Amino acid sequence: MNSEQHHYEQWDLKHQDADVTYLLKYLCEMYPGKIVFSTSFNIEDQVITHFIANNQFPIDIFTLDTGRLFQETYNIWSETEKKYGIKIMPFFPESTDVEKMIMKQGINGFYESIENRKECCYVRKIKPLIRALKDKKIWITGLRAEHSEYRQSMNMFEWDDKYQIIKFNPLIHWTQQDVMEFIKKNNVPYNSLVDKGYWSIGCAPCTRAIKKGEPYRAGRWWWENNDEGKKECGLHLK
Ligand code: SF4
Repeated sequence: MNSEQHHYEQWDLKHQDADVTYLLKYLCEMYPGKIVFSTSFNIEDQVITHFIANNQFPIDIFTLDTGRLFQETYNIWSETEKKYGIKIMPFFPESTDVEKMIMKQGINGFYESIENRKECCYVRKIKPLIRALKDKKIWITGLRAEHSEYRQSMNMFEWDDKYQIIKFNPLIHWTQQDVMEFIKKNNVPYNSLVDKGYWSIGCAPCTRAIKKGEPYRAGRWWWENNDEGKKECGLHLK
């Protein structure tokens, strides 16, 4: 364990009850210019964007535009920028990577095998994410423990070995009710798909609405009959 990892573990103990604004301010002072927030415009991300924009924290907000997002996601992206007067940076996949992959596996090849799906997520999400996180120290995410069994073991601060960065998950202990109450109370805009049962929204061809009682991420890659870990695209697996 290096000293930075040891340091973040202490943060988790020290700040577990601190509020999000306090923690964001604290991090901005500690790591000026080295903090990024990745949004996919899910409800949790909208709450964090609200905290960042309302306080004018100098934190870059980016999104991974895979080229396969829902129109509703582009709509909330635009609405969010207008409401808060901010710009959200898109990170796109390399065009030649996408072209080669489509020639190899077809335009909807991700339905045909887990390998194809993982290759698509790698090309469209992971590689752009590596670019987005380059030279940064803190990566803010909207992960919540309730999302999955895997995420239940996560802390507010985590060392991400894969990307060599400190991950800050400010809403990790929030419930869905906490998030929705915050959204309503503060008039935070959210993706219209949420009201149709889409609680975890990713790429359009790989996301469906969930039914009452289904796990949060059951609508992601729903055709794959696999274990918990595979309901992640690789962004948040250590
Ligand atoms: S979620 Fe689907 S379309 Fe999006 S990158 Fe992964 S496999 Fe490709």
